[in-house]
Amino acid sequence: MTTYDYDLFVIGGGSGGVRSARVAASLGKRVGIAEEYRYGGTCVIRGCVPKKLFVYASQFPEHFEDAAGYGWTVGQSSFDWKKLIAAKDKEIERLEGLYRKGLENAKADIFDSRAELVDAHTVKLVKSGQTVTAERIVIAVGGTPNPHVSLPGYELTISSNEAFHLEELPKSILIAGGGYIAVEFANIFHGLGVDTTLIYRGKEILSRFDNDMRHGLHEAMVAKGIKILLTDVIASVKKADGGGLEAETRHNGTLNVDTVMLALGRDPNTQGLGLENAGVALNDKGAIIVDDYSRTNVPSIFALGDVTDRVQLTPVAIHEAMCFIETEFKNNPTKPDHHLIATAVFSQPEIGTVGISEEEAAAKYEEIEIYRAQFRPMKATLSGRTEKTIMKLIVNAADRKVVGAHILGHEAGEMAQLLGITLKAGCTKDDFDATMAVHPTAAEELVTMYSPSYRIRNGQRV
Ligand code: NDP
Repeated sequence: MTTYDYDLFVIGGGSGGVRSARVAASLGKRVGIAEEYRYGGTCVIRGCVPKKLFVYASQFPEHFEDAAGYGWTVGQSSFDWKKLIAAKDKEIERLEGLYRKGLENAKADIFDSRAELVDAHTVKLVKSGQTVTAERIVIAVGGTPNPHVSLPGYELTISSNEAFHLEELPKSILIAGGGYIAVEFANIFHGLGVDTTLIYRGKEILSRFDNDMRHGLHEAMVAKGIKILLTDVIASVKKADGGGLEAETRHNGTLNVDTVMLALGRDPNTQGLGLENAGVALNDKGAIIVDDYSRTNVPSIFALGDVTDRVQLTPVAIHEAMCFIETEFKNNPTKPDHHLIATAVFSQPEIGTVGISEEEAAAKYEEIEIYRAQFRPMKATLSGRTEKTIMKLIVNAADRKVVGAHILGHEAGEMAQLLGITLKAGCTKDDFDATMAVHPTAAEELVTMYSPSYRIRNGQRV
């Protein structure tokens, strides 16, 4: 029988990699894990976690303004970017430490090195040149911001990676893209006082979301003072004579800004990984092709998270890792379930969503009912802030199942998490109606929208 150095070797110390390594090691397996940058991966080091800390930081100016309506006089306020970065870095360091500790406690071997495949069972640790063998190898190396190299002057732009470590807070920024990252960072920078412009190629931001959410957020962002340029792209970027950058757009002339940030999607991190040495197949986007059990075409090699072309979300990578453990180490074949994933955009206001949009439901079902509420949140009554919350339930008329729930407003992400349970459980609109409201909350609207706002039959609003 062939003997390997490890039962499992994991390449990549992000959410999916660390989870699979830690749990396998805690089951008594001999596990090694390699990470070339920092343990915690994109989510912890330069994604979800620091982003959310930035979101909190960017909300304070509105809180200070709102306080006046409640009788408070807030003195002169000022903001120190470097202080925020230092505080954020300290917290990220703490979390990174916890990730390492979890691996250490489970007795996994931790390598601070890039790792590349030599063959189907062998990994080379680039720093030391050492090779190790493993019965199973998991590739969980994540993704990286699409650098958009076809854009003249792309090298002058930043991505979300750099946004977390800018030396100075820019006075003005142009952000390209209309997805999660572009929208979230536009709100962050605006909240921190940066003159912010978003440029997006489509007709409306957040192309894969419910139209009501897209329009509602767009209006709210513009009302705050964020400029949004639609059906336009950056044609080139160059250094301006007097400092800063000159971004030439296709239809809106030349914009002079301090910083240009690209948020045009993320590419799988598969280059130079030695995948060809083991014969691992990739799709046309460079993502590792996997089956329902996260198996690649090479029986000993598995892939999890953003390096595969599934859903680029941290909880999804963790779920895929847990399914891998069940299947491979607990003799309990378990497929990751990618249906009905609740998600949030940490824009201001937030979007929280689970299930399908009105547009998708209208195309899928013969008749749907739309329950829609739009109202001013209670806090805005005394603060005087003009803002609105939108809540929407999409119901398949045939079986009364709620197939989509969408919220634009404060704490929409928190609400989406709980709505995720109800949709996953297959709750009907009648279950929502039978649920007692929690009063006074915004969420109570979700259980008190008794009659449909409108119906859509065979694609037509009736
Ligand atoms: P997204 O896929 O969300 O958005 C990419 C945007 O870039 C889209 O608006 C897309 O347009 C546009 N785009 C792509 N290529 C081009 C191009 N060549 N020229 C002009 N525009 C282009 O990716 P992000 O980078 O924002 O985020 C990556 C992933 O990370 C997300 O998909 C998400 O899964 C995850 N994420 C999740 C967060 C959360 O859960 N809150 C936060 C941040 C990221 P179009 O829509 O027209 O294709």
